[in-house]
Amino acid sequence: MNIEEFIQNANILTNWIADYYKNIRFYPVKSLVGPREIFNSLPMEIPQEGEPFDNILQDFQDIILKGITHWQHPRFFAYFPANTSFPSILGEYLTSALGIQAMMWLTSPSAAELEERVILWLRDAMGLSNEFVGCIQDTASTSTLVSLLTAREKVSNFKINQEGFNDNYRFTVYCSTEAHSSIEKAVRIIGIGSKNLRKIPVDQNFAMEPEKLEETILKDISNGFTPLCIVGALGTTSTTAVDPLVKLGEIAKKYNVWYHIDGAMIGSALLLPEFSHLVEGINLADTFVFNPHKWLFTNFDCSVYLVKNPDLLVKTFQISPSYLKTDYDEQVHNYRDWGIQLGRRFRALKLWFVLRSFGLKGIQSKLRLHINFAKELEKMIRQDNRFEILAPVNFTTICFRYNNPLRKKSEEQLNDFNKKLLETINQSGFAFLSHTTLNGKITIRFSIGQTNTCLDDIQQTWSLIQKKAAELESYEKKKIF
Ligand SMILES: *Cc1c(COP(=O)(O)O)cnc(C)c1O
Repeated sequence: MNIEEFIQNANILTNWIADYYKNIRFYPVKSLVGPREIFNSLPMEIPQEGEPFDNILQDFQDIILKGITHWQHPRFFAYFPANTSFPSILGEYLTSALGIQAMMWLTSPSAAELEERVILWLRDAMGLSNEFVGCIQDTASTSTLVSLLTAREKVSNFKINQEGFNDNYRFTVYCSTEAHSSIEKAVRIIGIGSKNLRKIPVDQNFAMEPEKLEETILKDISNGFTPLCIVGALGTTSTTAVDPLVKLGEIAKKYNVWYHIDGAMIGSALLLPEFSHLVEGINLADTFVFNPHKWLFTNFDCSVYLVKNPDLLVKTFQISPSYLKTDYDEQVHNYRDWGIQLGRRFRALKLWFVLRSFGLKGIQSKLRLHINFAKELEKMIRQDNRFEILAPVNFTTICFRYNNPLRKKSEEQLNDFNKKLLETINQSGFAFLSHTTLNGKITIRFSIGQTNTCLDDIQQTWSLIQKKAAELESYEKKKIF
């Protein structure tokens, strides 16, 4: 492809993307292909000769698109959003064009310094302690892993990095039963073992019970364990419950335990002054993570990792072979030492595009819009007594199920019914929702946060849920008689 062809193809692609976004509501949200369907429609070998761009784009449309779940569809209500926005797409386009490798300051000073600046922008806009500095990691999973590794090295005085584990170390890590699976994954990876992860019970609002946490820590200490880290949740994945972050921080301080807070989805809410009461808890943490790639209109991947003591972090990760040493190392941040991989993407660029294009006010009004949509939906659900809401609606995720008091069902039948209901809605292609289990109850999660979601999308999806539930109920009734 020469430069003239590049210009032409880029124009074709830009137009394609514009049409895609214009027509996105006509696509089935969740891909309806079956297993192996896409794989089997692809040729077995690399083409010997180069192919024209038009053919590639045609196959993208005919084959690949069928197997795409449209995360940017305004009726994507599953999991949490992985949202993007036009400024983010354009920033990413430039990043790919520059094609830099931002492993250290010298390999692109702008990448390092823009990254530092946008992190501080966000920190300050959230009103967080200026003890925090940070960097961009790929995901919250990585950020949590990096945090736990730092805790491990701090407590072992950097010995485990040198000598490996031995019998002297019996670490325990604490999170709630509702915490994200990435915490258990990190506990496994760093060599502590799942059985030493203490999953502390939650209250009726799905937030950790701090008394149980303290009891467990005391018991572990008396049994010869070293409590390594408490992971608090600012918004659990199932219900967006918020752990009592201040109390957790006080316990962490009292027992000298590392404190990490996982705010992957909900962290963005700290940009709203109405959530400034959450800042006190975050400020007690050693590290805090949230994902602009979830609810800050910046495309995957982009995870903000804040840390109070970067020296510990760097000491955990830094290995400086001669070929990576530079004359500037004393004056600059080499982010290769702030995480796992050497090579790093230039992620700050798209985030910068987003923050400048929206402005803080633009971002705040989008976040508030989504929160108001959730309130509207909660009202609609509460007005229909065939449905029940199963968790407090704290932000933009609503957990509910069908449970018609006029059609009594066992818990097992209810689970079955709600599973079927969800499947029917997702198969319709109109909207995509996902589920969780709360106290043994199959729960439908309606998670709002896609960049372009409108109230109409929510209302229409709710109508569809009501209609499908009624159909399913009458179908089941016919089956019995
Ligand atoms: C989504 C989520 C994660 C994982 O995020 P990744 O960036 O995909 O690793 C972790 N914790 C919580 C609370 C989440 O909601």
